[in-house]
Formats: sequence, C-alpha cells, structure tokens
Amino acid sequence: MPTIDLEFDRHHIWHPYTSLINPLPTYPVRSANGVYLHLESGEQLIDGMASWWSAIHGYNHPLLNKAVTEQVADMAHVMFGGITHAPAVNLAKALIAMTPEPLDAVFLADSGSIAVEVAIKMAIQYQVARGLPQKYKLATIRNGYHGDTFAAMSVCDPVNGMHELFSGILAQHFFLPSPNIKPEETWQDTELDAARALFAAEHENIAAFILEPCVQGAGGMRFYHPNFLAGIRALCDEYDVLLIADEIATGFGRTGKLFACEHANISPDILCLGKALTGGYMTLAATLTTRDVATTIGHGPGGGLLMHGPTFMGNPLACAVATASLALIQRGDWRAQIPVIESQLKAELLPLKEHESVVDVRVFGAIGVIEMAEPIHVAAAQQLFVQRGIWIRPFGRLLYIMPPYCIRANELSALTAAMTAYVNQVSSS
Ligand SMILES: *Cc1c(COP(=O)(O)O)cnc(C)c1O
Repeated sequence: MPTIDLEFDRHHIWHPYTSLINPLPTYPVRSANGVYLHLESGEQLIDGMASWWSAIHGYNHPLLNKAVTEQVADMAHVMFGGITHAPAVNLAKALIAMTPEPLDAVFLADSGSIAVEVAIKMAIQYQVARGLPQKYKLATIRNGYHGDTFAAMSVCDPVNGMHELFSGILAQHFFLPSPNIKPEETWQDTELDAARALFAAEHENIAAFILEPCVQGAGGMRFYHPNFLAGIRALCDEYDVLLIADEIATGFGRTGKLFACEHANISPDILCLGKALTGGYMTLAATLTTRDVATTIGHGPGGGLLMHGPTFMGNPLACAVATASLALIQRGDWRAQIPVIESQLKAELLPLKEHESVVDVRVFGAIGVIEMAEPIHVAAAQQLFVQRGIWIRPFGRLLYIMPPYCIRANELSALTAAMTAYVNQVSSS
C-alpha cells in the first residue's frame, strides 16, 4: 500500500511546470535500480527518460553508491570560499583532461541553469575587461533551451520559453531562425546566411553566441547539421565573439561522441556541463573556459573577480560522485552502447513516419524522438505507458526517450513498442 500522502502532494507541492489548482497525476516511486523505477504500488517501469538525461549509468550503481558513501563519511559539505578539498580538485582535473585542450579553468555550479548564468557572466566580464562594455548582448538560435533562471531564460526560445509572460524583466537578445538542415541531409551554405548578416550588423554589440551543439533539447528536441555549428564557430572567430556551447544535455556520450561539439570538430570558448555530470545522483554543473578568457577576466575591473559564488559551490558529495561517474565514462562502455541503441531506435521508430498522425521521427545517438501532429494528452499517454510498464514523459507534441546507456535490447524494445502503441492508438481514434 502506498504510504505516501498523495493528497498533500497535490495540494502543496509544485512539480516541474505544474499548477497547484489543476495538478497532473504523479506516480510515487519508492526506489530505482538499473533501468527500472519501482513504484510504491509494486509495479516496475523501464525508464526511458534517464531522469531527464542524467542517470546515464542506471540507478543504484554500485560504484557511484560507493563514491557517495565514502565521501559522506569524510564530509558532506564545507563552504568553498577560502577552503578547497580533494573531491573538487579531482573533479576539475578530470573535466579539464576530458574536454578540448583550450578549456582549462572550471567553475563548479550547482545546477545547469546556474552554469549558464555563469557562462554569460564570464562572457560579459571578459568583454568589459577588454574595454568593450557595449559588447554585452547575446545571440542564439530559436528552439533552444538553456534553463529557467532569468539570464538563461532570456536565451531560451521566445515562444516555448514563454518570454511574453516575463517580457518586462527579460533581457532582449538576438535570435536566429533555428537551423533546418538535418544531420543526415546534404549541407547547404545558405543555412548560415542569417547568421552572417547578424554578425556583420551587430558584432560590436555581441558578447557571445550561445547554443546547444547539434541537438536542441527541451526547446524542441531538434537535431541540426554539424556544419552549422562549425559555421557559427568560424563567424565567432571572424567577428571576435565568444562561443558558449551548452552541452548540459548532450555531454558525456549521449550523441555518440563524448561531447556533441566533436561532431563539428570544434571547441567552444565556454562550455556548460550538467545533467549527466554526476550520473544523475546529485545536482551539480560546471562551466569551463579557456586560459585566455580566465586571464582577461582576472585583469578586469573590480579586482578581476568572477562574480559568482553559490553557497553549495563545489559540494564534496556531488564532486565525488561526479568523479566516479567520469571514471565510468572513461572506461568507455558507452562507445559500444550508444551505436547499438541508435541503430535499434532507428529500426524500431523510423517506420512510424508513415503514420498521418506523425510529423517526424528522428534519432541521434541514444535519443529517439517522435513528433506528433497534435499535442499529446500527457496524463492519458502516461497512463498507457505505466500500464505497459514503462516510463516516458511527453511534452507538447513530442514523445521522446533518452534511456540509460546500460539499457538492454529487450528493455529498449519495450519502450519503442509502447511508443508505437501510442501512435497506433492516436492513428485509429
Ligand atoms: C536541462 C538543461 C539546462 C538547465 O539545467 P538545470 O539543471 O535544469 O538548471 C540548461 N541547458 C540545457 C541544454 C539543458 O538541457
């Protein structure tokens, strides 16, 4: 019997993007193991979401558990102002070693949104330090998602990100159309025309260009051609604009490369990491930048201080489990797992394109997306999925999965079969 007070939950606790007067049903989870969520009701669900991109190694992983347990015996947390500790230093070393060479300074943030805030501060402080205070705007592409805090929200898609609601307080930035050419399509250089025009006209006002490399996540689950990313990198170089790569969703193997920037053979000036950083165990994110940016900020006004410092910065528990997760990444099982997941997703999902109720089906690495013609009724779809023993959380017209990398073929088939069942149900109604 559920021991959890669901009535209390409904009336008093906001869940992500919910209303307290008209809450959607929630499913009480008691524990999680491998790719399974165990509900209070006794049912178990195969998790297609990896808890929003983060639980890449599966739940209750012995090596990650060990890292947390050993660390908690030493210290759960100490302030990072004026204090340092091995978990933070070990993690920063591992991050610098595994990211592209020019990145060699690390800010440990407490969530993805904050990593983006810090990236934006770095870019603006860098331009101010160079005597270019008018270079404070950001440029980005539509359909992006960079987080829910105000600066991050200001570069999210203006429509999906509900900019209208906050228009009085939100900073105004430059938005390019989101790229249309898909990774598998033939590249056409005209795709960069709008970007060329923007850089030529506004570069003196732009501190940085921010985007998600190759895969746009929560702003639309869109995949675009790596040449677009390479083209933006080249324009940033030509026009003296920093490039911020938000790899919070794409980092750590999800797209088939360690970082999605590798699809375009580029390296950003500032890199945001989060989500899978701790293997889904704790909230932690990181913003990395180059020696040049770090040094320039250091020579800037106000004593050259980077103006950020959260209370839980560098939390030792989170750093310890992140370092253990990166060790698992370095072991490299994902290099074999992702292509296997990708080809199975293609085989089992792409045929659904034939349905009239389906606008598009796309697969990139271990990400599978079905874009429906009509909005998905989330509560009804979830009920169907839970009955079938799987966990998928649709949003808008998108039914998508990004399972833990350790998922087995039969478990993945259960996910794609449920997605197929949903499409069939819509098609026949
Ligand atoms: C999830 C996400 C964020 C925000 O991270 P939070 O930890 O939810 O604050 C930022 N950028 C991208 C690309 C994301 O997917």
